[in-house]
Amino acid sequence: MGRPIVIIGAGQGGLQAAESLRSAKYEGEILLLGEEKFSPYNRPPLSKAFLLGEMAQDQLTIRQAGVFDKKRITLKTGVRVEKIDPVTQHIQCADGEDIPYEKLILATGSRARIPAIENISSRGVHTLRTLEDTLAIAAEMPAVEKLVVIGGGFIGLEMAAVARKLGKQVTVVEFADRLMARVVSPAVSSYYKKLHEENGVDIILNAAAEKITQREGSVIGVVLNNGVSLDADMVVLGVGVLPNVELAQNAGLECTGGIIIDHKGKTSQDGIYALGDCTAQRMGDGSLRCLESVQNAVEMAKAVASDIMGGDKPFIAAPWFWSDQYDVKLQMVGLSKGYDEMVVRGEEASGSFSYFYFKNGTLIAIDSFNQSTDHMAGRKLLGSENTLNVNQARDMTFNLREALRG
Ligand SMILES: Cc1cc2nc3c(=O)[nH]c(=O)nc-3n(C[C@H](O)[C@H](O)[C@H](O)COP(=O)(O)OP(=O)(O)OC[C@H]3O[C@@H](n4cnc5c(N)ncnc54)[C@H](O)[C@@H]3O)c2cc1C
Repeated sequence: MGRPIVIIGAGQGGLQAAESLRSAKYEGEILLLGEEKFSPYNRPPLSKAFLLGEMAQDQLTIRQAGVFDKKRITLKTGVRVEKIDPVTQHIQCADGEDIPYEKLILATGSRARIPAIENISSRGVHTLRTLEDTLAIAAEMPAVEKLVVIGGGFIGLEMAAVARKLGKQVTVVEFADRLMARVVSPAVSSYYKKLHEENGVDIILNAAAEKITQREGSVIGVVLNNGVSLDADMVVLGVGVLPNVELAQNAGLECTGGIIIDHKGKTSQDGIYALGDCTAQRMGDGSLRCLESVQNAVEMAKAVASDIMGGDKPFIAAPWFWSDQYDVKLQMVGLSKGYDEMVVRGEEASGSFSYFYFKNGTLIAIDSFNQSTDHMAGRKLLGSENTLNVNQARDMTFNLREALRG
């Protein structure tokens, strides 16, 4: 029998790559190796419905066990890959197993960044990246009165919203001068600051956590660099992620802020692909794009499978993302960074509206609040050429799809 295609990382993207290879009629063996003990699961609900107790654990699982047999995908969980030898085309697992491969796909994701804060490993301080993290938070939650969230990004804010719904006292500490500053416009930051404050969250901007205070090893508070001391019986860290690039780096693959790939998921090493959170995609203009989203992992997995099968389906769609906080569903398409004009479509006061971003008169992104129709139209508009102008975007009687060219 020939060598298998080996996929390292049994997350959203790894699983998609395996399934797409099968759908494209790859007949050889597919080996999907994952370090976590769980079958591939959806991460987004970890900071949303699952954490809130509105979703059972088995609903997180992406595919039931029988699907792997049916599709002839060999899934091995609890297996950590430690080394890649690109010359002999072998990988080595932590338990000593040595596996040859025909093609290798790296889908190792990212891990929560742990900031350099004194006493960070106190009991009651959590990251929120894996199912195990969420189970640990959920187990402690009933005894928690005061939660401090360090980091006002998507995950930190979703955590804050859930904790408020559970009746906890919540403070969010953010280093920047606005929330989610890395990825959203100032208008979106302001909207969410107000939303959280109206829901009873204390937001502290322009401040960094300096020290965790503890008693007998358990967290009792957080001291900030502005001298403020906060009481806390739980701290959740939401200060970003680090791509898991070490395997690739040690094998000599080019890595800068992620494993460097092209629009088909090819790395600098022939026969090795990468996708999802662990990657940095080199764009046409030479810039590098790092995206942490389900769409990015899933669509790049499809592009990788297509390239392996000799097809040509590069991943070039406009990026999209969503976040659920309280009863607001934010859906984003495109990247608003660098916009020079923003228009509002709909009434902000109604709670259902969108921000449209333009650069030099061209639509570059749309953020929709409880407004899926605009978002879905936006995916079409931004996924192809369009002629939408600011007046049409603002005009509620204008049908957005009319701006599709061709
Ligand atoms: C709490 C939370 C909420 C989120 N919410 C959203 C959302 O609302 N919308 C959205 O689009 N995205 C969201 N995301 C991001 C999204 O889940 C990720 O972008 C997506 O999971 C990336 O998929 P991936 O396959 O690249 O990595 P992952 O799904 O992280 O999978 C990588 C897997 O590789 C394994 N692995 C790593 N190294 C090794 C090794 N050496 N050997 C074996 N296995 C290894 C890891 O254990 C992991 O299981 C959220 C993420 C989190 C954590």
